[in-house]
Amino acid sequence: MTNAKTHNQALHCFMCSNKISSAPLSYNDIGWTTNEQFLSLKIYFCSFCTFAFAFPELNPEDIHSYYAEQYRSPKSTFYINFNKKVIPEINDLYNNRSFAQLTLARSFCTFDHGDSFLDIGPGKGGSFIIANAIFPAPALHAIELSKEADEYYKKNFNTTSHLSLTNFSKGERKAKIILMSHSLEHFCMSDLDILFKNIQTALHDEGVLVIEVPNVNMQVHQYVRGPDTPHLLFFTPKSLKALLIKYKFKVLFIDTCGPLYNLKKHESSVHPALLKKIFNNMPHRIQIYSRTIVRFFRLVWKYIQKPLELISRNSTSTTLPNHSYGGERKALRLIAKVDHE
Ligand SMILES: [Zn+2]
Repeated sequence: MTNAKTHNQALHCFMCSNKISSAPLSYNDIGWTTNEQFLSLKIYFCSFCTFAFAFPELNPEDIHSYYAEQYRSPKSTFYINFNKKVIPEINDLYNNRSFAQLTLARSFCTFDHGDSFLDIGPGKGGSFIIANAIFPAPALHAIELSKEADEYYKKNFNTTSHLSLTNFSKGERKAKIILMSHSLEHFCMSDLDILFKNIQTALHDEGVLVIEVPNVNMQVHQYVRGPDTPHLLFFTPKSLKALLIKYKFKVLFIDTCGPLYNLKKHESSVHPALLKKIFNNMPHRIQIYSRTIVRFFRLVWKYIQKPLELISRNSTSTTLPNHSYGGERKALRLIAKVDHE
């Protein structure tokens, strides 16, 4: 890669075409330091429309093979064991993210017997459990590149997986609800034109698109956001809405959701950049284990909090972040439909 200044001089915002004038920010690649494609990245922030993006653009073929082979593999921090035989249960329905997303979507459209629900990037398949529970005999579809995931969804939820949206749309199939939960931020900018064109084709005239992405305004959340890898796009309410309008969608709903940001976090005594440097110099295997351990303790903390909620009713842990909206929250949720006007 040439130096960042060269990129900066020529760079224009993908969203609003204005010139990027501010210096690039470092890409927070904690946990993926052995994956060379992420090492070259810097983040550029547009002060006009608040959109931010990783640059230089990665090779779409490399990204494709990364999601097909590495992202969910045992060597990844995002590993999912799809060989588990037991269907995962929903422990906390009221604060389940898919439940919040699909009930919100349902209030903007109908969902009749046998209608199609399509999840682009379903992860553990939580949305399929919810869709099966709240929709009448839904036809479940996934866009998924991982073979193990495909088999898992098919076996446990009777889902049909497709390698692309074009495959889904064959035979004039239309989805009443399309969900992209924490997947849009993984796309390359050069893939967005074709992505939204294909969503336009795949979405039923009366159907809705649900998008949830991290809420990252680099001006405000620069020091409090989590690791970036493998995110390539960073949205604010303003830039996410602009993106949908750019691709001829009508935005019916948009707001922040999820847990609240702790904006004072970066004032703590240890500088995040120093922590990152120490972390990235540790052996790769230890990096993976460390993140798994952090996730484990977060999970344990969640269970410890439950009895505490009964004692302290005023505690913030009694809120339902997945159903709460507004303010400095960590995610953005949007509902849109095709704009025919
Ligand atoms: Zn811009």
